[in-house]
Amino acid sequence: MPANILNLSQYRVLRMEETEHDYHVTAEPVDVTSACPHCQSDRLTSWGTRDQVFKDLPMHGKRVGIYINTKRLRCQSCGKTFSQALPILAENRMMTERLVARIGQQSLKRTFTSLANETGVVEGTIRNIFRDYVNELEAQFRFETPQWMGIDEIYLIKPRCVITNIQNNTVVDMLANRNKDTVAKYLFQMKHRDKVQFVAMDMWAPYRDAVTAVMPQAKIVIDKFHVIKMANEAMENARKGIRADLDVKQRRGLMHDRFVLLKRQSDLTDKEAFNLDGWTKNYPVLGETYRLKESFYAVYEASTGKDDALARYEAWSKSVPPEIRPHFSDLIRAFTNWQPWILNYFDHKVTNAYTESLNSLIRVMDRMGRGYSFEALRAKILFTEGIHSRKQARPKFERKRAPEPVEIGKVMPDDAMDYGLPVLEKVRPMKPPKEADKADQHKALPPPKNYGADISTLIRMIETDEL
Ligand SMILES: [Zn+2]
Repeated sequence: MPANILNLSQYRVLRMEETEHDYHVTAEPVDVTSACPHCQSDRLTSWGTRDQVFKDLPMHGKRVGIYINTKRLRCQSCGKTFSQALPILAENRMMTERLVARIGQQSLKRTFTSLANETGVVEGTIRNIFRDYVNELEAQFRFETPQWMGIDEIYLIKPRCVITNIQNNTVVDMLANRNKDTVAKYLFQMKHRDKVQFVAMDMWAPYRDAVTAVMPQAKIVIDKFHVIKMANEAMENARKGIRADLDVKQRRGLMHDRFVLLKRQSDLTDKEAFNLDGWTKNYPVLGETYRLKESFYAVYEASTGKDDALARYEAWSKSVPPEIRPHFSDLIRAFTNWQPWILNYFDHKVTNAYTESLNSLIRVMDRMGRGYSFEALRAKILFTEGIHSRKQARPKFERKRAPEPVEIGKVMPDDAMDYGLPVLEKVRPMKPPKEADKADQHKALPPPKNYGADISTLIRMIETDEL
């Protein structure tokens, strides 16, 4: 096999020039085209040549161009003209196939500009290769449709929509914007979208309208976090309102007021509780707002269900005095407008672990490098190696036991039918294997289910700059 500097056995190197930044390699294919690709005839005549340059993998830090004087041929049998065969070249991209593959893989890790600098390929072509590569990845990794779905906002250059799997703590997709059309289109193409049971979301009408239109069976739940947050905002309104009218000396008396006022009462140290007591005496509005913030939290903490929550909320709302009410007006308006979905929370609670990890993700997200387009950031988040939460749908190890007699007419449990729905390991009931299952164990295992990008892995990779 002819060894050459390109390490491409399909080509013969004829000449090589080296400049400060580049290698210019003149080469020709080893195999001669001897048959017409249209009719297989071997009666071919020369029909001129054309000079072409193909980019290849950089060598020794230099860009590489392969110069080929491509022969044009004409078939005497069918009269068609064509170019000689150029193996391992991606002719539509004017580069070697191995460079296409490398640019694809690297496009998730590096900026398009740095890849363009390294290879000499223009940025537009790199973007096209990136898009092809992402399409391949999309086809390769099919994420399971969540039974409990989250739709949240995440800030990447501008507000985006992030779709999550609440039970598995994963990111399933990211959408370029938060419009109803964008969200509805996305939800519409989800596989088994009729199996989505709950959708937790922020109070953003386009999300609600999209879900209602496309997944009418799904219950919309406004997570506690988004509502409680508004009680803290009311506290902040009151605090800022009071501070605005104070002189420097009076303000000094309110040291660390923000920190203390946003803290829960049960978490206050003795000193903080003492300070708060003093502020309450000087500024009654501050104390009253604090008390109302705490009693709003209590609506969430004490309620035993929907009806109880509504009763507790209404009692709370009545207890807000007129002079404090403006501070809570956003919260009260939101509760009124979103009441059915806010109350759904009390019957279907989203886990705190999920909300916390999503919020941590939102916080670290702005660390992600600049210079990336949204499409590139999305692909990094969804497709970086090692980021996926996978579960092998492998039968559990079961202790051997005598087969159970089959009851005629016994109803089959839902999960025995395997709709391909994600079932949490924790809640999957142990059950004796059926005879058919035992036989299946000897067959090839199905591919593992992929739930998307694991949120805690994402956070770790962003914090350690691995993404
Ligand atoms: Zn022919």
